[in-house]
Amino acid sequence: MLSAPSGGGKTTIAQALLQRRDDVGYSVSCTTRAPRPGELDGVNYHFLSTEEFDARVARGEFAEWAEVHGNRYGTLRSTIERVMGEGKHVLLAIDVQGARQVVEAFPDAVTIFVVPPSVEVLVERLKARRSESAEALALRLRNAQVELREAERYQHVVENDDLAATLRRVETIIEEETLRRERLPALGRQVEGIVTHLLEEFDDRG
Ligand code: ADP
Ligand code: 5GP
Repeated sequence: MLSAPSGGGKTTIAQALLQRRDDVGYSVSCTTRAPRPGELDGVNYHFLSTEEFDARVARGEFAEWAEVHGNRYGTLRSTIERVMGEGKHVLLAIDVQGARQVVEAFPDAVTIFVVPPSVEVLVERLKARRSESAEALALRLRNAQVELREAERYQHVVENDDLAATLRRVETIIEEETLRRERLPALGRQVEGIVTHLLEEFDDRG
């Protein structure tokens, strides 16, 4: 699960990961914000009207949802289930409020907070993206202060300076997390099997 202030690089990192790895699947979120030029419905987001979004909230379809920068964003349960069903790591690029809800629902979720190298770089990247009006941009930068304070709740913090270096860091986290003992029940059984075998064969007390 990736979080970052707006312009921190979540989308860029997520897209690069998807291109590089076939064991990662992206959780396409729903949003009530308007599509940016080039954004496709069903690919970048499921673009919903506020009415449709609220109806889905009422039907309990969201694993999490939150109001962010004046719009609603949410992750459908069905989306997470589909990606999990494909046997892939589910990659969520969501805000700090949503991340808290996901951790509650899925306590073994891996949380990564992406930080920009500096305020100057963050502002520069956001402006260069040309995706927001001056007003919307100012709101996003104001909200960044609150969002950055949430970084300490995350298991991992990754600085997004050079993209290739950032990707190496995120991929290292994925590899490390995949190797955690508690994620490898089969390995636990194998160890037990070896211990039993050793006891039977070599325990001179028996
Ligand atoms: P977010 O999804 O967190 O809002 P984006 O992925 O859209 O952020 O990144 C914001 C802008 O910064 C984009 O224009 C993107 O191309 C650029 N960007 C992201 N990461 C880097 C990086 N490591 N180096 C240079 N530019 C970057
Ligand atoms: P943007 O409008 O720049 O695409 O996204 C704005 C913010 O909404 C970002 O912080 C992004 O991570 C967050 N966001 C995107 N999808 C979701 C989602 O499904 N749930 C939540 N809670 N936040 C999301």
